Amino acid sequence: MQRPEIITIDGPAGSGKSTLGELLARQLGYLYFDTGVMYRALTWAALHRQTDVYNQEMLEHLAHQVVIEVVAPMQDDGRQYTVLLDGTDITWEIRQAEVDRNVSVVARYPGVRAEMRRRQRVIGQRGHVVMVGRDIGTIVMPEAPLKIYLDASLETRARRRMAEQRRRDDTVSLEETRASVARRDELDQHVMQPAPDARILHSDTHSPEEEVAWIIALFDSAEPPSSM
Ligand code: C5P
Repeated sequence: MQRPEIITIDGPAGSGKSTLGELLARQLGYLYFDTGVMYRALTWAALHRQTDVYNQEMLEHLAHQVVIEVVAPMQDDGRQYTVLLDGTDITWEIRQAEVDRNVSVVARYPGVRAEMRRRQRVIGQRGHVVMVGRDIGTIVMPEAPLKIYLDASLETRARRRMAEQRRRDDTVSLEETRASVARRDELDQHVMQPAPDARILHSDTHSPEEEVAWIIALFDSAEPPSSM
């Protein structure tokens, strides 16, 4: 396989998409773009303006108004990138539990999805990108030549999420995190189908480095591995 210009990585919350996506992009010299950030930024904007997230019309309107930019890290505090909403840095705000609780409600509105997908396609079509999300291989970039669907058990995903969140809030419990991830799984069902031509990876038993090596082997060797 020739080195693909666009690689999509989809999968549920906590499956390890962002770690894998960033590593892979760095190795290839590609842009890493995490589409979840856009839904999170919009959700944060609504919460910040005290807009009811259950008001579909207001949220669909807001989706067209907000300027969301994802740029190289502007601070050395462990962030993968800086997220700007109308020019304000909200990189860590979008990781708050309140955003986690509401983001999947906001992401279900068709008008919100249409606008976010349009913006994502503009970025994807420039090429040399590893794009991460839920529906990237199925709807946003179905023409991508290499699609990965990364999965893991609920237990593994909840533990990972908790470890991430504990760096900022040490009061969060595994039970709470497991319930929050499970609720998001339920609400995100509508965008959780792997593309028919996606390669499925299970991250429970593999390190991100092993996953990257496996993906690179897919297009660098004459004899690509069939599964992992
Ligand atoms: O990937 P992350 O957990 O940051 O995504 C946050 C939420 O944004 C998801 O739970 C989902 O509701 C929504 N999302 C989506 N489509 C994407 C990426 C994220 O609906 N491509």
